[in-house]
Amino acid sequence: MAAPEQTTNPDFITLLARKGREKVTIPASAVKPEAGDRAQVGVALASLPQRSVSFPAPRNRPEPSPTVPDVPLSAADHVVEHATCLGCGCACDDISVVVRTGRIAETRLACALGSQWFGDGQLPAHIRAGIREGDPVAALAAVATKLHDADRALVYLAADLSCETHRAAIAVADLLGAALDSVTSTTAAPGVLAAQRRGRTTATLGEIRNRADAVLFWGTDPATRYPRFTTRYVPDPEGLFVPAGRRGRTVIAADIAADHGPADADTRVAFAADEEVAALSLVRAALRGRAAPNAKPDSVDARAAALADRLRAFAYVAIVVDGESAPHRDPRRAEALIALAETLNATTRCALSTLRSGGNRSGIDAVMTWQTGYPMAIDFARGAPRYRPADDAAALLARGEIQVALVVGAASSVPESIRDGLSHVSCSVIGPRASESPFPTFAAIDTGVAGIHERGTAVRLDEIPLPLRPALEAPAVAAFRDQWGPATPTVARATVSSLCAALAAAPSGGDDRIAQANRLRESSPELAVAAALAADGRPQDSYVLLRALGATLAHLKGVA
Ligand code: SF4
Repeated sequence: MAAPEQTTNPDFITLLARKGREKVTIPASAVKPEAGDRAQVGVALASLPQRSVSFPAPRNRPEPSPTVPDVPLSAADHVVEHATCLGCGCACDDISVVVRTGRIAETRLACALGSQWFGDGQLPAHIRAGIREGDPVAALAAVATKLHDADRALVYLAADLSCETHRAAIAVADLLGAALDSVTSTTAAPGVLAAQRRGRTTATLGEIRNRADAVLFWGTDPATRYPRFTTRYVPDPEGLFVPAGRRGRTVIAADIAADHGPADADTRVAFAADEEVAALSLVRAALRGRAAPNAKPDSVDARAAALADRLRAFAYVAIVVDGESAPHRDPRRAEALIALAETLNATTRCALSTLRSGGNRSGIDAVMTWQTGYPMAIDFARGAPRYRPADDAAALLARGEIQVALVVGAASSVPESIRDGLSHVSCSVIGPRASESPFPTFAAIDTGVAGIHERGTAVRLDEIPLPLRPALEAPAVAAFRDQWGPATPTVARATVSSLCAALAAAPSGGDDRIAQANRLRESSPELAVAAALAADGRPQDSYVLLRALGATLAHLKGVA
């Protein structure tokens, strides 16, 4: 049979690409009216004053992908299907990454934020330790020596690396007896602590998509920070028990001061910033039949009671809130939202879905909990992990307790308050764009980004682990990962340790030492990978480096 002809007409290809992204919609005549009965509740809320309640705004969703293929697929070197985007916590794993001549040319299905996160895959590949440049072994030796000699060290986990790298970094903190913390303690601690105090009623995004017939967006509009949340999870997609998709769901926007819910919500209710926590308590009271009697129209009580009436009418309510709290929000809000979800579960089903930023932040929390029992602010100083949420990295740095710090991850993701503290200690960074760190460092090693250059695992905002399929993984790293997997080669431990110790002892190096170093470099899988990447001008692999660093410190500490 003759092969079908391929077109090269760019207009036709663009048209086909657009067609491929169009949503299939069910004719309105084929859809049974849902019992959510917007009209009824609309009446209840419409009785409230205009300021607090309004009705559906026109829907104007952005195109799901700004990247449109402009040349035939055959021009690509290769296409990586089901790549996972870590541009935000949604971790969309349906992205097709098109690579041409070693660069990312297209990211199909990614939103604008995701396309920006992938970029063209090009990163700086500098290695710097003091006056030495370009030698990963010397840089690792300098980092290991500083950390080993410090009385009090901090290992700080930042974004854009895999769970495997974070695990290796936690092992380094354990070996050092160091403080261990992550970006979570500054950005999302209130939600984490509230969940520890009273538990959390939540669900996977898959369950919410399949079951939720009402979505309450509490002071957040996913369109800006989580662009595909609405089209991939709720409210737009069809669900197993919500076959009409968006038409079968009711969207309620709770606007908290300037933090508005989605513009196309079916119902809106507004609260001032200082009314927020009280409003959540009043909604709970109303759900329990204890609404304030004779509440004045437009009072907080009246608005909260109207919202409670609305919520109890549904079979499954999903409350969506942004977990990366801004400093201006009341920290008690997190616990109040958990309590509201609990109360709703007395009469109907409710799940609280907490949105998290990208770069595998949820993965950091998950791996820290897995390895130590706690999600942030841990101290290994007594030989076992201790949870010290009141003494997080910011507090330790502010008190001047830290001498040496190791940041593992993208330096640009380190919060402002931590950057200030790090600028007063001896700090090294291993992570993407480490050489462009906004705070001073004595050593910086640029690595790839998890999901683009490095394989491994990431965790979605609902704590679902996802595999990473890097489009630009270096052949040397792929071979190393295929051969060694998660196992630690014992040969490498000894060789890396000896090499780093030798280089650290004599940074200028004599002929014998250099010869010894070269011999050891050849026999160490990690150092062979690091040397190959450096020779190719590629960013280093964070997992390989952290393993080598851990082995070195184990040797220096005499435990390996
Ligand atoms: S919604 Fe988030 S994870 Fe999905 S493509 Fe956009 S930035 Fe990436």
